[in-house]
Amino acid sequence: MLAEPLLQRLAEARHVVALTGAGISAESGVPTFRDAQTGLWARYRAEELATPAAFLAEPRLVWDWYAWRRSLTRRAQPNAGHAALVQLERLLPRLTLITQNVDGLHARAGSRNVLELHGNLDTTLCFDEGTVVTEYTDDGRTPPRCPRCGGLLRPGVVWFGESLPKATLEQAEVAAASCDVLLSVGTSSLVHPAAGLPLAAKRHGAVLLEVNPTATPLTPHVDAALSGPAGLLLPELARQLERLRGRLAPSD
Ligand SMILES: [Zn+2]
Repeated sequence: MLAEPLLQRLAEARHVVALTGAGISAESGVPTFRDAQTGLWARYRAEELATPAAFLAEPRLVWDWYAWRRSLTRRAQPNAGHAALVQLERLLPRLTLITQNVDGLHARAGSRNVLELHGNLDTTLCFDEGTVVTEYTDDGRTPPRCPRCGGLLRPGVVWFGESLPKATLEQAEVAAASCDVLLSVGTSSLVHPAAGLPLAAKRHGAVLLEVNPTATPLTPHVDAALSGPAGLLLPELARQLERLRGRLAPSD
């Protein structure tokens, strides 16, 4: 699988960044953003629902769409790829998991150090204040209202035309610039600014590894491209790493 010298780099890394995208969630049966448009929702384009303007024009429609998408992700279970990233977090001195997914599957699998670049379907924000709202009364209104200011509540995800959460993006950029190995998993590497993180890591001397079923725009820049599903390749990578670390461990 991974050539010995690269495996060695991974085994000796002090800080590894894993960047994940829709591919790893798709293996759990979470439809990608656009593929989610089935049934009642088939007549809407995802790009036209996921904007602040759409929410202001038709808040109930957008809120209901997210409620439906939440119901899809809650039925999904983390897969072997998610579990392998949990194992890597245990095996390595430091793993920062940066995800573009909003389904919360990494946290449900047990990953702890997760930066959610595009937010999370299960968080709720006040549209007016931008604050996270954890408790609100369901008085039958859709969307529900902010208990503090009465503003509309909205899902805590990043919409088209919105910036990524500043602090989270900064942490991701710092992690990418300071890691020894960056592992890109199940992402098409097309959507900026996330797509810039692997190249930033490379500029700072990190080894780039990619796990994806098909080649991506990142592939020409990586040190190794492992071609296949994350649910197969990440557990194998974790096993290889565990074996090598077993060999490297002091025998006394
Ligand atoms: Zn409010």
